[in-house]
Amino acid sequence: MTETENRVDMDEIVSLCKRRGFIFQSSEIYGGLAGAWDYGPLGVEMKNNIKRAWWRTIVQERDDMVGMDAAILMHPQVWVASGHVETFADPMVDCRNCQGRFRADEIEENRCPNCDAVGQFTEARMFNLLFKTFAGPVEDEAGVVYLRPETAQGMFVNFENVLTSTRKKLPFGMAQIGKSFRNEVNPRHFIFRTREFEQMEIEFFVRPEDAPRWHEYWMQERLRWYTDLGVRPEMLRLTAHAQADLAHYAAACSDVEYLFPMGWLELEGIANRRDFDLQQHSKESGVTLSYFDEEKGEHVVPFIIEPSAGVDRPLLAFIVDAYRQEEVRGEKRVLLKLDPRLAPIKAAVLPLSRNEKLVPTAREVWSMLRPHFMTSYDDAQSIGRRYRRQDEIGTPFCVTVDFDTLEDKAVTIRERDSMEQVRVPVDGLVEALRERLPPC
Ligand code: ATP
Repeated sequence: MTETENRVDMDEIVSLCKRRGFIFQSSEIYGGLAGAWDYGPLGVEMKNNIKRAWWRTIVQERDDMVGMDAAILMHPQVWVASGHVETFADPMVDCRNCQGRFRADEIEENRCPNCDAVGQFTEARMFNLLFKTFAGPVEDEAGVVYLRPETAQGMFVNFENVLTSTRKKLPFGMAQIGKSFRNEVNPRHFIFRTREFEQMEIEFFVRPEDAPRWHEYWMQERLRWYTDLGVRPEMLRLTAHAQADLAHYAAACSDVEYLFPMGWLELEGIANRRDFDLQQHSKESGVTLSYFDEEKGEHVVPFIIEPSAGVDRPLLAFIVDAYRQEEVRGEKRVLLKLDPRLAPIKAAVLPLSRNEKLVPTAREVWSMLRPHFMTSYDDAQSIGRRYRRQDEIGTPFCVTVDFDTLEDKAVTIRERDSMEQVRVPVDGLVEALRERLPPC
């Protein structure tokens, strides 16, 4: 697929996200805060579904992985050892014409992305992306702590704790989901590049000689995760970093990229971090972080394969990929063809009208479904309009309660993509929906 074939307009996505309660600008009533976004009622559901789907595949279904949830605030020495204090910086330039500030490596043909002036940039200066704050009442150097820029370090420094408490054997991994913070020079593209975001990271520990093989394995495995959740394979690709562009800790790195409306951009990075982090933390902390291989009778410092994904970028990719505009009987229908596991609402209960005979039954059906699925109830406007509203937020099933329901104790299930309808008894409705909804 070429870039021009992906015709989804980002403005339409941003507008849908706001209108329907997926994503709002942070502190909007005060004019917003650059690089920060709030997830609304549907956004938080979808985000939780993404995290759950990841946790299920990565932790629950595997026998070689354990979960973690480390603190965001860590000892400041962690970030010295990891190299972030010294080197976690982007080159930054200012446009003399419009005073805009940009990442130097994102400038094309010396042209300002804001005002189009050519050749008006200042010399590049390095800008550290770590957010600094103070722990305790005194704002001095001794109290400096950082908001973590990645979740990874929380897993490295717990290597010994996890190893001794779980008795895992190599190869094994740790997985963590949580917030990270980077003082990005130029947050942009909606939730693609923000200053506060979430990550889903895996640190997979292997014998050094096995690292290339596991690196390859995780690249394929991570691609498969996206396609299994419905992303069109032609919209995804793996791109290897050139040797010269590798981060200081990496022996190799490939990105999973998605063809966003802005072009091919990174969803997640899959790096071979070598033994860099364990060695650094051993050196700085004085605590040896290594693994005793009982079979071989030797200590090894494992190499680490790190599939590091965001949550927000994949969420944007899932929405962009699912977005369709169709024409149905002469009318436009906007559809989010989301995998049911990701859809914020699994089933919407819709009485045919607000007729007083229908409403109590419809509300009973809704109460019956609520303990089992994330559901909603909508009785405003015509049934056609309500189907469209559910299509637009990706609800896979609508359950319609009509006058026949009062007689035959059955309801209609309407499927989002095909718009096909089947009649099922109210008694069997939970089971009928369960059969149609994969577990998540
Ligand atoms: P980029 O080159 O786009 O700045 P990166 O290579 O620095 O990204 P990583 O350090 O590999 O990113 O982080 C892993 C993942 O975390 C990214 O693939 C992305 O999904 C997510 N991520 C990183 N920075 C941001 C950000 N500023 N906003 C949203 N998500 C981010």
